[in-house]
Amino acid sequence: MSQLDRRRFLQSAAGAAAGLFSLEGLSAAIQTATTPYQRPRLKITKVSTAVVGGSLHTRIYTDQGIFGQGEAVDAISGAVPIIESWRGYLIGQDPLNVDAIWERIRTSGIFAGAQGGQYITALTAVEIALWDIAGKATGLPIYQLLGGKMRDRVRMYCDSGTNNRKDPNAQKFINQIIEMGFTAAKIDIDDAADPARFDRVNWTANNQEIDNMIDKVAFMREALPKHIELAVDMHGRFDLGTGKRMAKALEPFRLLWLEEPVPPDNVDAMRDIRESTNTPICAGENIFLRHGFRRLLETFAVDIIMPDIQKCGGLLEGRKIADMAHTYYIPMAPHAQASPIGTMATCHMMAAIPNALVVEWHWGHPASRHEQWKNYVKEGDILQKGYIYVTDKPGIGVEMNDEAVRKMQRPGQKWFDT
Ligand code: MG
Repeated sequence: MSQLDRRRFLQSAAGAAAGLFSLEGLSAAIQTATTPYQRPRLKITKVSTAVVGGSLHTRIYTDQGIFGQGEAVDAISGAVPIIESWRGYLIGQDPLNVDAIWERIRTSGIFAGAQGGQYITALTAVEIALWDIAGKATGLPIYQLLGGKMRDRVRMYCDSGTNNRKDPNAQKFINQIIEMGFTAAKIDIDDAADPARFDRVNWTANNQEIDNMIDKVAFMREALPKHIELAVDMHGRFDLGTGKRMAKALEPFRLLWLEEPVPPDNVDAMRDIRESTNTPICAGENIFLRHGFRRLLETFAVDIIMPDIQKCGGLLEGRKIADMAHTYYIPMAPHAQASPIGTMATCHMMAAIPNALVVEWHWGHPASRHEQWKNYVKEGDILQKGYIYVTDKPGIGVEMNDEAVRKMQRPGQKWFDT
């Protein structure tokens, strides 16, 4: 290419790029690029955390007035100082290089617990905040950055406030599930306080315990209309024999899934149960990263996976786990305890993956918790008739109602910069 040709080529490319950058919705950060090819580099200036109940919220600030917020759940005890220890990996970095920052922090911690637990949960909060920044900087909702939207709304299931016919509030809670428009619900059937138990530690269920568990499923199945699917959780407490007996006994109820009849740590035991039954088996709420899901998928030990997207590594890691599962024709039904902020973030990912089944919703009871859900973000209640419609606002697209959320903190819990 002659010098003249090269100049013409660069000029025409510059023209095309200028057109691209003038598209409505792209941020000022990009539009004020110093060259047509390079936006001004955003820099992370500050990282701040708050703990609210069982949620860890992280805010990451930049030099251009944009900040992102991410949420992590469950394995958050001790996660605040872990995030603070990463300041050197974050301050001054371009937050839009989400995966590079994530990978650098992960690989830097391989001797510090970066295989799971609090380390990855903390990293998850950071990763989601970075996506929130990336969305706000480009003027795009996160689903767009994760590959684009396959669906406008994400199906939610209600974690039921009741599970047995002796509960005086049973009908009230069941009516609530129906009236709120859910198409699926879940109950827990493991009961540490079951008087039929012979041993306080060992979880080999006897016939009476098995009958008690089956009766909970039978009651709920009778009480819920047929169109509402039912999932059942055993919380990974039981031994292999009990898991197999329960999976078989529950076959007539045509469950949406039976969750963790044994812990998923021994993939072969889980596969043994799956191969013994027609009841779909689901596992994964305490599994981290793609690496944690690999053998579960490769050995066909489950029918459904359920990573917690506020814990397993983040939104892109969730997408990667989903894509891995999709090659085994296995759908994803994420575990979720998060506030509307984390839940909406999960829904962005679920909108972008092909094998999205349903997401957990845990805020129906008691009534005080339902009120917290409605007040958590400025957008109000994001749940509509059993679905969450994925927002088109930039980033996660919901904003914490600080005043309301501060009142939900337990004594001594940290609040951002205070
Ligand atoms: Mg569970």
